[in-house]
Amino acid sequence: MTITTLPPASVLLSAPPNPADRRPAPRTRRTKVLITLATAAAVASVFLGNGGMLGIVALFVISWPLERLWKRHPVPVRRLALRTDLAYAAAQPLLQVVTLVVGVAIGLLSLAWLPGLALRPMVTAMPPYAQMIVGFLLFDLLVYWTHRWGHTVPLFWRFHSVHHSTRHLDWISGVRAHPLDGVFIAPVVALFIGAGFDNTLTGGLAILQFLVGLGAHLNVRFRLRPLWPIVMTPEFHHWHHEVSPEAHLSNYSTFLPVWDILFGTYRMPRDLRPQHYGIPGPMPDGIVRQLLFPFRRRRAAAGTATG
Ligand SMILES: [Zn+2]
Ligand SMILES: [Zn+2]
Repeated sequence: MTITTLPPASVLLSAPPNPADRRPAPRTRRTKVLITLATAAAVASVFLGNGGMLGIVALFVISWPLERLWKRHPVPVRRLALRTDLAYAAAQPLLQVVTLVVGVAIGLLSLAWLPGLALRPMVTAMPPYAQMIVGFLLFDLLVYWTHRWGHTVPLFWRFHSVHHSTRHLDWISGVRAHPLDGVFIAPVVALFIGAGFDNTLTGGLAILQFLVGLGAHLNVRFRLRPLWPIVMTPEFHHWHHEVSPEAHLSNYSTFLPVWDILFGTYRMPRDLRPQHYGIPGPMPDGIVRQLLFPFRRRRAAAGTATG
């Protein structure tokens, strides 16, 4: 289980972030407003039955005591950039609409549903349990490559770097993601719909992947070592967020680490733990500036492309 495809350190452009950034954020009126908005968005989602938001609410309820009991990094509750992540949480319903609308357009234009149609007779002939297993494995494999390209294709990295810009991994940091980062999975969904996989399975897998991904950011100290090669754990995903050159481009799997093991990007050192998170290049503070960041002129944005 070794890494064979990491790029040279020279592609990472500057020093890692300062751990001193783990300090409390000031308590301001804007923070309180954002907490209120995030809570309102969560409550509204419960009444509107928004599956994604319901999942986020449930995850927050579960993760809060876990982080209090088994906290790993000594990060205060009101830590730096909490306000930015709260803004992402409050804006989730809106961001999800953007992802959905652009994702449908990209899914159609990608023509990925065409090879899906070619596979349709084979898929629909499968017994339900076989379709479920094949669908799960294929979806997870394709998401692995989509995520990997999110790091290695400079255009995709512009959007994905927003998610990686957080210097704290905890109960809420996983919601920080550009809405157009999520659309890169749209061709995969189009392929699945074209192939005739059960829509409940496809939608369920997308939501499951999203929720498992959020849980992988928790600031918890248990390592769950027996599960390392079997399923994504917080330790696995924390290494993916590590800023150090030898760790940054590894552990792309979003559910089954077997894809990283097979394709040479698995990194789970037994005697080390991830320490510093973030990206080697600049990222502005605040949700609005971060949402606009990928559209800045290439010369300015190119500083963060790591592969
Ligand atoms: Zn990533
Ligand atoms: Zn992440």
